[in-house]
Amino acid sequence: SSIMAKSKFEYVRSFETDDTCLRNCYIVVRLDGRNFHRFSEQHAFTKPNDDRALGLMTRSARSVMEELEDIVIAYGQSDEFSFVFKRSSTWFKRRASKLMTHVASQFSSSYVFYWKEFFGEQPLLCPPSFDGRVVLYPSNRNLRDYLCWRQADCHINNLYNTVFWALIQKGGLTTAQADDRLKGTLASDKNEILFSEFDINYNNESAVHRKGTSLVWEKKDETVTKHMKLPNVEEKEVRVTRSRRRVEALHCDLIGEQFWEEHPDILEE
Ligand code: ATP
Ligand code: ATP
Ligand code: MG
Ligand code: MG
Ligand code: MG
Ligand code: MG
Repeated sequence: SSIMAKSKFEYVRSFETDDTCLRNCYIVVRLDGRNFHRFSEQHAFTKPNDDRALGLMTRSARSVMEELEDIVIAYGQSDEFSFVFKRSSTWFKRRASKLMTHVASQFSSSYVFYWKEFFGEQPLLCPPSFDGRVVLYPSNRNLRDYLCWRQADCHINNLYNTVFWALIQKGGLTTAQADDRLKGTLASDKNEILFSEFDINYNNESAVHRKGTSLVWEKKDETVTKHMKLPNVEEKEVRVTRSRRRVEALHCDLIGEQFWEEHPDILEE
């Protein structure tokens, strides 16, 4: 406040360090749930994939996109979500700590706020928290490769978890035995175990689990008829078209060209 601004204590502000993000770079904030291995057990998440938990993560990420400025795409899997700010963003003067903490707290409070919509009467047993980090990507290629990296991670983990839990839930193995069985196996081996022992074609598993969730802005033109009533003028009907945008969830491949051809607005020059 203005009273404090004039005080002799004001000098302590100069201890604050500059954390402005380099201009022209995409700013990525990635969140990851703290100790979710334990959290998922405490809350009896379905293994390998609990759809309530994934739905709640996505709902919380949607709230981040809707409430904060300049996020052009978000990508999530497991207990993590990445948010990409457009490279020309000037939100909070590009101060890393401001962006990161706003994302993390909006996400965490939304996770609690929307818990009931996904878990019903099952109680939330402790306050969940998420760590955050900021990474800058200077080129479109770098940003795309970042998203590819997270999606590849999703694929590797989900393939592993799908076989691991099939061996336990359908094959009757203990977790230690399943771990042992999968040591040193390649992706092809895991696909083969799923197919020959459990009649599962991995490619037919749900896309949410294989590809994760991408949130993008979808623009839709909406035309409505409005009744105009001005003083001294006869009431008339006018057609008003406005462009509305809403967050859409996709479970598609980000590695190939198709997604980027269909969403040319995400990347800037
Ligand atoms: P910003 O997002 O920039 O922080 P702000 O609206 O939160 O904007 P602050 O400078 O942080 O602005 O001021 C917080 C404001 O919240 C106060 O000016 C006051 O109006 C209100 N406020 C906070 N706590 C209380 C409280 N306990 N009782 C009444 N008003 C409060
Ligand atoms: P850290 O605090 O270091 O992040 P962590 O326990 O959260 O530790 P992660 O590597 O982030 O470890 O892994 C998250 C774990 O949360 C997964 O291994 C998985 O057990 C669990 N998990 C997260 N989301 C789900 C889900 N939708 N369904 C089932 N399990 C989940
Ligand atoms: Mg981690
Ligand atoms: Mg975690
Ligand atoms: Mg994680
Ligand atoms: Mg404030």
